Amino acid sequence: MAGRDDRAWWTAADLGCLVAGVAAMLVVALRSDVSVAAPVLIAGVLLLFACRRWREVAATRAATTRWAHSDALTGLPDRVVFQQRLDAALGRPARGCVGVLVVDVDAFSTVNANYGLAGGDRLLASVAQRLHAVLGQDDLLARLAGDQFAILGANLYDGRHAEQVAERVRHSLVRPFNVDGEQVWITACIGVALDDSGSASASALQHDAEEALERAKAAGAGRHVVLDHSMRAARADRDDLVQRLRTALRHGQFRLRYQPLVSPADAHMVGVEALLRWDDPDRGQIQPDEFVPLLEETGLIVPVGAWVLEEACRQTALWRRLGRAGADLRISVNVAPRQLAQPDFAATVARALETNAVNPRNLCLEITEAALITDVDAARGELAKLHDIGVSLAVDDFGTGYSSVGYVRQFPLDAVKIDKSFVQGLTAGAEDAAIAHAIIKMAHALGLSTVAEGVENAEELDRLQQLGCDLVQGFYFARPLTAEAVGSLLETGQQLAVA
Ligand code: C2E
Ligand code: CA
Ligand code: CA
Repeated sequence: MAGRDDRAWWTAADLGCLVAGVAAMLVVALRSDVSVAAPVLIAGVLLLFACRRWREVAATRAATTRWAHSDALTGLPDRVVFQQRLDAALGRPARGCVGVLVVDVDAFSTVNANYGLAGGDRLLASVAQRLHAVLGQDDLLARLAGDQFAILGANLYDGRHAEQVAERVRHSLVRPFNVDGEQVWITACIGVALDDSGSASASALQHDAEEALERAKAAGAGRHVVLDHSMRAARADRDDLVQRLRTALRHGQFRLRYQPLVSPADAHMVGVEALLRWDDPDRGQIQPDEFVPLLEETGLIVPVGAWVLEEACRQTALWRRLGRAGADLRISVNVAPRQLAQPDFAATVARALETNAVNPRNLCLEITEAALITDVDAARGELAKLHDIGVSLAVDDFGTGYSSVGYVRQFPLDAVKIDKSFVQGLTAGAEDAAIAHAIIKMAHALGLSTVAEGVENAEELDRLQQLGCDLVQGFYFARPLTAEAVGSLLETGQQLAVA
């Protein structure tokens, strides 16, 4: 509409100019002679036409831009316009904050598959209409891509308000849609990002909304997730920690500590578990429970885990030089699911053993139940190769995951480590004692040895001995020690004084 009006032949402004021009000429003609009036009239008419031409070009340009940045199917603005409007809104939020809601239709490919692309298009056009109906006066709806829309809430009060808008959007899609005479039900996930600080950029806010959408999708169909300032701060903190972990790997800031595994009858150290430690130069010591999950999430656990294997083997070779006790010492290394999923995992382990001339029988790999379940076939292949060369395998944290006897039998396992939560419950209630008892009986029936972790007092040790547990580990005997402390123990007879 606006485009046609702009190009109308005589607009009110043109006529105004013309009337003013003729009036000016008449005034000049009456006051002077015609030789002056004529050039004035001609100049006036030329000016009038130049103005018209200029307005025409400007109107055509505006129409072309609008056309280039609006979606042909829904007539909605596209990503470029959305970003421009978002930029402008961030500059002047009228209320508390500015919000971006990215709406993504769940399983839209199924609609396309069932009703064809044309049917899918008709559905999207109807979705656009419904979304349009929930907009507030100052909001903007755009189509970002395929089945993805975005709403700019320029005047939101707070997170709760954004939640309400998301709820309205979700509700607007509940009624079935009509596609080619058939009723179609859909759901959508919504990612919401809010800026109440006035400091976010348009692209950062849009990126956050997309991340929130990803999280909503991961939670299931029809979900919404709101990402606000505090969440963004937590994420920035996490990103900083990941950066620091990369630096730690490059600059060799990781170390290992070794916690003794002892035989319960005589407190004799038969092996050690290598445990990863990290001192960040600025933040000091960071707990493995905080950084190991991040290593796993980012995949950094693959190179860091390879370093742990190499370092543990290097240290084992050094202890061996201390004599017979050192030569018999077993070293347990924790292996994360991501490591096990590497096609060359067995080769990495074999290389660490070979380069340090360590006997594979001295090495035990501790693997969580989750790692065994995630990619069963790949894991079984890699573990079988290692078991064949003499490496032993233990299931870590047993009892906290799936605890299925089925998978225990599928893998060439040697030991089961009873999680410390059961050990700590041994003396508190009958239930944990029954679980620990059942695990030990099951493991022995399958020919596996048992290790209990987290033993903190004599009572727990007594109960485990009664239950026939083969090895124990915990603060009652020793905390994770330095390599030198383990070396001293090896030299003085491996006997641990109980705490
Ligand atoms: P985990 O494999 O279950 O290791 C045992 C954890 O229990 C260690 O915590 C150890 O210090 C702690 N612990 C030992 N005895 C006791 C006790 O008597 N009482 C209590 N309350 N805790 C005890 P840490 O060193 O903080 O390690 C935590 C987790 O981080 C490990 O649990 C393991 O899952 C992971 N982790 C540590 N090092 C590595 C590594 O090199 N690779 C991988 N993938 N994960 C590692
Ligand atoms: Ca472990
Ligand atoms: Ca454990």
